[in-house]
Amino acid sequence: MNVKHVNTRNIITKTKLPSADYTVNPYIGCTHGCVYCYAEFMARFSGHNDEKWCNFLDVKENYDFPTDKFQDKTILIGSATDPYNHFEKQFEKTRSILLHLTDSLAHIEILTKSPIVLRDIDILSRMKNIAVGFSLSVSDEIARITEPAAPLPSERIEAMRVLHSAGIRVFAFISPVFPLFSDYQAIVKSVEKYAAYIGFENLNLRGGFRSRVFALVKEHFPQIFQRFISIYYSKQAFYKYWHTQEREIHEFMQTMKNLPYKMQFFHGDAKKK
Ligand code: SF4
Repeated sequence: MNVKHVNTRNIITKTKLPSADYTVNPYIGCTHGCVYCYAEFMARFSGHNDEKWCNFLDVKENYDFPTDKFQDKTILIGSATDPYNHFEKQFEKTRSILLHLTDSLAHIEILTKSPIVLRDIDILSRMKNIAVGFSLSVSDEIARITEPAAPLPSERIEAMRVLHSAGIRVFAFISPVFPLFSDYQAIVKSVEKYAAYIGFENLNLRGGFRSRVFALVKEHFPQIFQRFISIYYSKQAFYKYWHTQEREIHEFMQTMKNLPYKMQFFHGDAKKK
């Protein structure tokens, strides 16, 4: 892993994401190696054209922290990296950002796959409007293939339990819902006692990772390969499959009593409200 320290002017940046006003990414790059990573495009924008995504990590340094309290705004920490990637133990960049935001009036969401977040319970429990989200997509067995360097989903769910018992709001972000692999019903049932809400996002294959995902499915799950690629064969096939999935998720969530949920399917088509 090529680790560098880079000067950064702005650590909190405006975003067009439909679910947030600002994002914070303490690092450029990641350590988890998810086959479907949507953040891979960041390599091009950060002078890492010739490096493989997840082989480098830029640690952001020397930024001014805004004095704005961001009242009523939503700040998402971890839109293009895991803020609790393996190097956070050493560099504590996310921890120092949380210290800056402790008295913020913003709605702050953290998105991670790592129990390292438990280290920061002391700060999180003092924050007014914080929610810690865990990305969950597939079972432990499949995650060893699709997210090879990330902590296992069962470890994330255990971290959710610990945070919840410490009085910190947690949510599950079922992302990506992986066609033919994601047992989202089992995931929701395993976190329903802890999660304040659930998010769902489908697997889009718009980036350069499309061929990589196809190759992985062909190698490890040849029996379903043809069905898998047929979903992404045409726009019509894609929308047909995901509209059906979306409807089934709505139906399933009606059986989950009052557990709130948000659908973020067709993300690229969503307009910011
Ligand atoms: S944890 Fe997120 S940013 Fe890191 S490799 Fe996986 S999908 Fe990409």
